[in-house]
Amino acid sequence: MEIPAPLRLRIDRDALVSNWQALDRLSGAAACGAAVKANGYGLGASLVAETLVRAGCRDFFVASWAEAQALAPLGLTLSVLHGLRAEDVPAARAGLARPVLNTPEQIGRWRDSGGGACDVMVDTGMNRLGVSVEAVQGGLLDGLTIETLISHLACADEDVAMNARQRAAFASLAGRTDARRMSLANSAGIGLGAGYHFDLTRPGLALYGGIPRPDMAELLRQVAFPEAQILQRRHVPAGETVGYNATWTAPADTEVAILNLGYADGYRRALSGLGAAVVDGVRLPVLGRVSMDLLAIDVTVRPDLAEGDWLTMGYDLATASAASGVSQYELLTGLGRRFGRG
Ligand SMILES: *Cc1c(COP(=O)(O)O)cnc(C)c1O
Repeated sequence: MEIPAPLRLRIDRDALVSNWQALDRLSGAAACGAAVKANGYGLGASLVAETLVRAGCRDFFVASWAEAQALAPLGLTLSVLHGLRAEDVPAARAGLARPVLNTPEQIGRWRDSGGGACDVMVDTGMNRLGVSVEAVQGGLLDGLTIETLISHLACADEDVAMNARQRAAFASLAGRTDARRMSLANSAGIGLGAGYHFDLTRPGLALYGGIPRPDMAELLRQVAFPEAQILQRRHVPAGETVGYNATWTAPADTEVAILNLGYADGYRRALSGLGAAVVDGVRLPVLGRVSMDLLAIDVTVRPDLAEGDWLTMGYDLATASAASGVSQYELLTGLGRRFGRG
């Protein structure tokens, strides 16, 4: 017996493909891959990867070997960004994905286990994962069969001098290893221009409708649409309040719908009083606090909406992020397990 969920995340596959194609075009001569870590930024990694591979995407990035395993049935070319722990060696030897080697220890572990094609992350100033530029110049990677030499930009969503410094540090390694390809740009990095594209780009956020830089807004479409069912419709007389801590007081008699959606689903409490459902282009604002599993909206202008009806929440990422102060990345990756996805 399958019980249908009272909330779902509608994925606009055409918009997803359109975003990838736009980023592919913007990447110029470089190939355009896809970061599908964190369950495809919350949208569902299999659904995303299946859609993008059909569109022509050939390089996929996940964080962990467990994420690679979840995608194994699709037979994709996968890279695991978080490298190769001792515990990961059997999965790597089984050919589940290519490791992105981040430390001299991981490089040794990969060589000792038999070596073969791998990717390598070089740190060019973010000081997160990766081996140093100096170590690579000093020969750390000599003899290694490298498919893609990777680095990651810390501030590509800002116009700061650090971008050019990272680019120059990475470019200085061209020809120093036998890497078949070099890859630097995430979503925002693609927008920095041809000098940042090298051979392969690795967008995540922008694929899913996030706007990494204002100048890329025109190219990208919303992909993820949270939808929830009305559980109850009620009349709230003027002067009464709605929700926890009674933060909203009805200025006049108000018709209210209670939706099956809350912060435990990733619909953040920061959207209390700011978010809205959007029905036929009309905003029906969230009233008072978002609860764990529920929220209230004003349906006074829509006498037709009733128990059991489905409503779509406004979830334009740039707008929701600006209003709530929650990053676009968190608004996506927080979308929870209770959504039916499709
Ligand atoms: C997450 C990630 C990406 C994608 O970044 P976006 O900002 O979402 O485009 C690319 N490369 C690496 C190494 C990452 O960790």
